[in-house]
Amino acid sequence: MNKILIAEDEAPIANLIKTALEGAGYHCVRAADGEAAADLLETAPFDLALLDIMLPKADGYEVLEYCKSLEVPVIFLTAKGQLEDRVKGLRLGAEDYIVKPFELMELLARVETVLRRCGKTGRVLSLPPDIEIDTASHVVRKGGVPVALTAKEYDLLLLFMQNKNIALYRDRIYEKVWGEEFLGDSRTVDLHIQRMRKKLGLENRLVAVYKVGYRLEAEKMDNG
Ligand code: CA
Repeated sequence: MNKILIAEDEAPIANLIKTALEGAGYHCVRAADGEAAADLLETAPFDLALLDIMLPKADGYEVLEYCKSLEVPVIFLTAKGQLEDRVKGLRLGAEDYIVKPFELMELLARVETVLRRCGKTGRVLSLPPDIEIDTASHVVRKGGVPVALTAKEYDLLLLFMQNKNIALYRDRIYEKVWGEEFLGDSRTVDLHIQRMRKKLGLENRLVAVYKVGYRLEAEKMDNG
């Protein structure tokens, strides 16, 4: 499990990020200021740091120096419009930046990309208790047994596995998986999702969200 440091002084933002990343299977630790972030970095190994630039005590650029010395990749969280911050951050060695306010889907995608690029990610994603995706071979297993999915069904499953507990809009799902603009016909998305979740027995976990689309529950919510 990848361990991620979140250095963000605004608690609501930090909590939102933490919840989303934990839903996607990451282990997260939050620091509310730059000094606390540097302390945490020195006491435990992290696979990635999300650094707000404007932090109390020591700013994101200072924390970046700690990260570089420890070879922890960094994604900066920057406020809207601060282009100079972004350029400076990348020039100093950050892997990427995200502009606030951001969509959680974008955050998760960037986190995953940086982890992969930096060789920090395993190639197997799992959905407890029994589903696994091997992203290198594109093989999906349920209870250890390979399940035959079409290419679109595989891409859909991967998208949901990367965005557990987040309600995904049909138009975004379509644009991500089909790579085309969504023109309002939701039947294609619905059909492929229904077939995929039936093959995997996910009818109770990959749930329709009224007026939105679908959400994959990381943990089974009911007891039945
Ligand atoms: Ca801040």
